Amino acid sequence: MKLPERNRRLKQLVELSRRIGTAPESFAILGEGNTSTRSGEDTFWVKASGTSLSTAEKDSFTECRRPTLDSLWESSVLSDSQVDEKLLESRVKPKDRKPSTEALFHSYLLSLPGIEWVAHTHPIAVNGILCSPRAADFAKFRMFPDEIVCGGEQSVLVPYTDPGVPLAKAIRAGVEIFEKDQGRLPRIILLQNHGLIAIGPSAGAVEATTKMAEKSAKIFLEASSLGGPVFLPEAQVRRISGRPDELYRQKVLKLE
Ligand SMILES: [Zn+2]
Repeated sequence: MKLPERNRRLKQLVELSRRIGTAPESFAILGEGNTSTRSGEDTFWVKASGTSLSTAEKDSFTECRRPTLDSLWESSVLSDSQVDEKLLESRVKPKDRKPSTEALFHSYLLSLPGIEWVAHTHPIAVNGILCSPRAADFAKFRMFPDEIVCGGEQSVLVPYTDPGVPLAKAIRAGVEIFEKDQGRLPRIILLQNHGLIAIGPSAGAVEATTKMAEKSAKIFLEASSLGGPVFLPEAQVRRISGRPDELYRQKVLKLE
């Protein structure tokens, strides 16, 4: 990636992180959540451990080499210090901070075709559902057209898993099954009892997906108090996602 594009991306990453970490959105507070984008063929920036999205600066992000992290997939049991060692070893600049412990799932998601940006947050309404017995309904069904435009026909639901390498493996397994079933990549990955991951081709896409997921969750909760939600029939969901005007809107929203 050329230098001007690298500079532009890192700036966008800082701005995206601040927006999703700051009120009124506050999709993450304190050190919650992490964001990333590709910085080259085999490299990416990810939020450093212990930094906050709301106060992100350029040095809140560490550039990592994917091939170094890839060795974490092979080992079946790793101590926390062995994982830390690999995280530190993956840094392009050894003076940078330690990458987030979730760097491995960012590394995987950014290796998928067309995925350039990842935003992981803990939005309140989304987590309200993910900490309830209705998480699978929220992943599988859709209630209104814009939810489909921004979030796709369905989301991946990953059962609760220990953060770090085990979570990265569970996310990879969930995305692979989804892709096999649906013939496309998801836009939303829901982590049970944990949070939301939005993936997409641009900073604007992952921000829109995150916002719409939180709005959908609020509507789900409202509708639940009235005996719902009433979900759209599968044929309607498919129709919306394939409509030319909706595809046009996706393009305008830079979702594709
Ligand atoms: Zn998290």
